[in-house]
Amino acid sequence: MKYVGAHTSASGGVTNAVINAQKLGAKAFALFTKNQKRWDAKPLDTKTIDSFKEALQASGILPRHVLPHDSYLINLGHPEDEKRHKSMEAFLDEVQRCSLLGLDRLNFHPGSHLKQISEDECITRISEAMNITLDKTVGVSLVLENTAGQGSNLGWKFEHLAQIIDKVEDKSRVGVCIDTCHMFTAGYDIRTREAYDITMAQFENIVGFKYLKGMHINDSKPELGSHVDRHDSLGKGKIGLDAFRFIMNDERMDDIPLILETIDETIWMDEIKLLYSFVD
Ligand SMILES: [Zn+2]
Ligand SMILES: [Zn+2]
Repeated sequence: MKYVGAHTSASGGVTNAVINAQKLGAKAFALFTKNQKRWDAKPLDTKTIDSFKEALQASGILPRHVLPHDSYLINLGHPEDEKRHKSMEAFLDEVQRCSLLGLDRLNFHPGSHLKQISEDECITRISEAMNITLDKTVGVSLVLENTAGQGSNLGWKFEHLAQIIDKVEDKSRVGVCIDTCHMFTAGYDIRTREAYDITMAQFENIVGFKYLKGMHINDSKPELGSHVDRHDSLGKGKIGLDAFRFIMNDERMDDIPLILETIDETIWMDEIKLLYSFVD
């Protein structure tokens, strides 16, 4: 079974993300548990935590179908120790917030080498930071998102994700989120049945579907292999609708959050209905 939703707004409090998901008729959702553009955040108080948990239970959405996303400021692979340390502190706080909310996974972008260190060195830094965070926390899996490879962002090649996972000690608490727009602009085609099957077989061989803990369902404004991260509404971009039809009928994507991050939130309800209409 498929669990489709969108990255809903938590403006005014995390409970609003649940309410906004319900309004869409979503069976899954993503949220920021704090302002994603700031380093600091007010700690979650008991009232907020209880309210979130009650709303989630009432919605019928399961915690494993919620995919929190960390702050855009965090770079676990930062070449400078002081800045990496700041990122690690903020990341630990993000994981703890998920844990307090009763959630079991946190989606994050692996990191950037900023052209100051090698890819390998950056990958080592990212996996070390993950190991340190995992040692200090319980119950939350760290979910690496594939990137478009814009600038010096790592994680656009399946090999990057595999190399990071390989260095993580507790493999039961590491996962991957595939963003279809990022995958496409990173150079992995999914537009035809044949291309889709080849790309997904590559993912299976290099990373493995056992690590897939969520997906971002986005069409792409830029072309295949352009390494530019710009999402589009489903069917309006360069990927087209067939890829999403393949996903909705692929049982490897069962029971994980499938999250829209498409650009026009006024049509999210229609996009969710469209995705479910693809199920044969
Ligand atoms: Zn994404
Ligand atoms: Zn993106």
